[in-house]
Amino acid sequence: MPTIKADMTKNCVRSISGLLYPVPMHGFCHRRFVLTALAGSFVAVFGRAAAARDALTQSFIDKAFEMKRLAERAGDQPYGAVVVRGGRIVGFGPSRVVVRGDGTAHAEREAMRDAQARLGRKDLSGCVMYSTARPCADCERAAAQAGLARMYYGADAHDAGAPRGS
Ligand SMILES: [Zn+2]
Repeated sequence: MPTIKADMTKNCVRSISGLLYPVPMHGFCHRRFVLTALAGSFVAVFGRAAAARDALTQSFIDKAFEMKRLAERAGDQPYGAVVVRGGRIVGFGPSRVVVRGDGTAHAEREAMRDAQARLGRKDLSGCVMYSTARPCADCERAAAQAGLARMYYGADAHDAGAPRGS
């Protein structure tokens, strides 16, 4: 399961796109290249599609941060995540570690549990997660076990000042 650090700060759709497009096996990227080579009119069509896709991606990121604010308002840890399938959010995850007194109720796990409940199955293949911060190893493992296709996260420990390993 690819885990990709993305610039998830608000109003940064362009930089997010810059990170999303180079991802390997991203079919849309290749289509864009081919269309650019074919004809400008196709590029114009693609441009609108890409803009719509960016807006959709931004809406998922915004919702993840909304979950973070929800957790904070409830006095919980400042993390949020959403699980997306087929272009719509199927799992919402504010951190509930403090509220529930459950050390496993991380935002990512809550989003996955919500998605599994809504979809009525444990398998989350084809789903994508957007998280405000890099998930812990347990959440990454849970995501991989559930078959999550891809995960994007905003901040990691280095952003909070942790030293980088050599
Ligand atoms: Zn976790």
